[in-house]
Amino acid sequence: MRILVTGGAGFIGSHLCERLVGEGHDVLCLDNFFTGNKRNIARLMGNERFELIRHDITQPILLEVDRIYNLACPASPIHYQYNPVKTIKTSVMGAINMLGLAKRVRARILQASTSEIYGDPQVHPQTEEYWGNVNPIGIRSCYDEGKRVAETLMMDYHRQNGVDVRIIRIFNTYGPRMAENDGRVVSNFIVQALRGEDLTVYGEGSQTRSFCYVDDLVDGMIRMMECEDFIGPVNLGNPTETTILEFAQRIIGLTGSSSKIIFNPLPADDPKQRRPDISLAGEKLGWSPKVDVATGLKQTIDYFAGVLGRK
Ligand code: NAD
Ligand code: UDP
Repeated sequence: MRILVTGGAGFIGSHLCERLVGEGHDVLCLDNFFTGNKRNIARLMGNERFELIRHDITQPILLEVDRIYNLACPASPIHYQYNPVKTIKTSVMGAINMLGLAKRVRARILQASTSEIYGDPQVHPQTEEYWGNVNPIGIRSCYDEGKRVAETLMMDYHRQNGVDVRIIRIFNTYGPRMAENDGRVVSNFIVQALRGEDLTVYGEGSQTRSFCYVDDLVDGMIRMMECEDFIGPVNLGNPTETTILEFAQRIIGLTGSSSKIIFNPLPADDPKQRRPDISLAGEKLGWSPKVDVATGLKQTIDYFAGVLGRK
């Protein structure tokens, strides 16, 4: 198949492109390099099945493709809050442009939605039926509400125009090629530990997250894209839940670092708890994560050690 991956030069997108090229597909990677990076796709550049398009998805584009994975959007709080208006435009206008393309060329489109659409959840673990608890006017809203509208657009293009859509809700994912400076907890803690700097826990560190290794996520994404008769939304994530303080201690242990933990103020609207209920993914896709956190973190620590060593 000919497959378009928007945001293909980003962290998750680059792993997805690699996997799809490996499976024998022709992959078009579209990216404006806001948070993505040519280094992420360097090993694909000479491959005749791989094409790179520098483009901003807030602008329309016409391409002949069979599948569209719509990942283009900054994902870390620091990056999506850098230019909030642009973040909303990317989610909303990007979704409209990609859905228009899918409609025109009759491609199937998968939207990379997020656990953030549940906001600060009052249902735990989060099931797909839960409608969420999102602040519409806070500093995370540009991302959360943009992604919620993108889901709405998927469903409306599906109902109104018969577009073949899929929606996945990705929970915190980590692995090699996360940006070193994106401010997310996994990259921050590992980089701090490797540099011997203090690990910055926000608040008391009692908030929880559940971390999924990128290879598992990519496997779930492809299963969902190729699943017939189920459009989602479906949660994809690893249900192993940890507090952020425990996570910091774990990173210190795994890196053998002498770093200490310090406590910084908790950002506004930071969700207190997050863990996916993945029964639906199990039932519909036969999917569950396979990589345990110790193994995944080791890969990620090795990656960052390489990145920091090159500097
Ligand atoms: P990332 O920032 O590494 O990748 C996003 C990519 O989109 C980058 O390459 C960036 O340059 C590109 N991009 C941003 N705006 C664009 C625009 N206007 N036009 C074209 N390209 C643009 O982030 P990621 O972690 O790889 O996330 C990928 C997708 O998965 C995002 O849509 C994100 O919301 C979603 N997601 C990720 C996570 C996670 O934990 N990593 C969790 C939930 C959802
Ligand atoms: N966090 C932290 N220290 C950091 C970066 C993040 O304690 O240096 C916390 C953050 O407040 C949040 C959790 O870790 O509670 C996950 O943050 P991240 O930005 O990775 O993802 P998200 O909040 O979007 O799930």
